[in-house]
Amino acid sequence: MSREHQICKRCVMDTTDTEIVFDENGFCNHCTNAFKKLNSYPLNLSKAEKEKELQKIVADVKESGKKNDYDCVVGVSGGVDSSYVLYLVKKQLGLRPLAFHLDNEWDTELSVKNIEKIIKKLDVKLHTMHVDWDEFKELQLSFLKSSTPDLEIPTDHALYATLYNVASEYKLKYIISGANIITENISVPTWSHGHYDWRYIKIMQKKFGTRKLTSFPHLSMYNLASQQLFRRKKIIRILNYVPEYDKKKIISFLEKEFGWQNYITKHAESIYTFFVQAYILPTKFNYDKRKMHLSDLICSGQITRNEALDTLKKPLFTESELHEMIGLVCNKFGITKKEFDTFMRLPNKSYYDYPSYETHPIYRIIREVYKKVNPQT
Ligand SMILES: [Zn+2]
Repeated sequence: MSREHQICKRCVMDTTDTEIVFDENGFCNHCTNAFKKLNSYPLNLSKAEKEKELQKIVADVKESGKKNDYDCVVGVSGGVDSSYVLYLVKKQLGLRPLAFHLDNEWDTELSVKNIEKIIKKLDVKLHTMHVDWDEFKELQLSFLKSSTPDLEIPTDHALYATLYNVASEYKLKYIISGANIITENISVPTWSHGHYDWRYIKIMQKKFGTRKLTSFPHLSMYNLASQQLFRRKKIIRILNYVPEYDKKKIISFLEKEFGWQNYITKHAESIYTFFVQAYILPTKFNYDKRKMHLSDLICSGQITRNEALDTLKKPLFTESELHEMIGLVCNKFGITKKEFDTFMRLPNKSYYDYPSYETHPIYRIIREVYKKVNPQT
């Protein structure tokens, strides 16, 4: 019997996450955990303490790169968080960042323009890596055929892998990330799983693709452990140290300072990410990731719950825009609309229906140990 629909009384998460748990007040596990994280290190520090921690980080980063042309690498997507991080790192903290962008062929024109504007005005070198489109396209199609919601795992995994690779190539210890607890706190494992799971990705391609992956940037469990534990690469989530990271204020700052332009919703810098999050996930799985992002903003006091509920009622595209978007995606993948509709109608599956590090008994033990040593990953 399906569960009766229930929405959290404090945020906008609801029973479309089938594993959601509510307490006696009607508050869900997601916002309860979000508040816990917002009240723990480094978010719980005073403004002066955060400033002090930030200066310590800056000193370490400068020291580590003093013999190099750059002292850190910053991944940029053209989105709010990474654009602001690049500005912060270069102008406010006086670091010498190398900007890195993974071009997976799905960038919107707007995101390309936004990256150009920021890079030019900040006078930062941009290193762009292009995926092997034929191979990458096939891997994305394999995930579509797998009927799981993990359609953006190839991009997310390739991004992690290439960031580590670029850091190694330029002999940089620090990767400065725009990921943060203020705007990216809540995550629902069933809605997207396997970001670090090379075994899962490899098996999906073997099962649904026609070719072996040869150039896809990846990190095996061994590579990941060796990068973090032995090569001592460090990811700094710098926005967690910024006193009052206010999304609306940051957007208007970027607009004024750089002529940067905002997107229709979070993660809309990429045509495919937008298509997956705005159409495939809500239509096929009943997953609307806006609920997570809006709940984050409620928890960090940036919008009210009513504002979030109003936003959720607004459609992200018209019928004709949808028609155009489906046509564009099918055309890029080289499939017909009929084939796409067949994928959409396949019975839904999850990460747990396929072999992965998590379902492999030995990897599972290694993973648990590794997670204890590196709780951030
Ligand atoms: Zn909640």
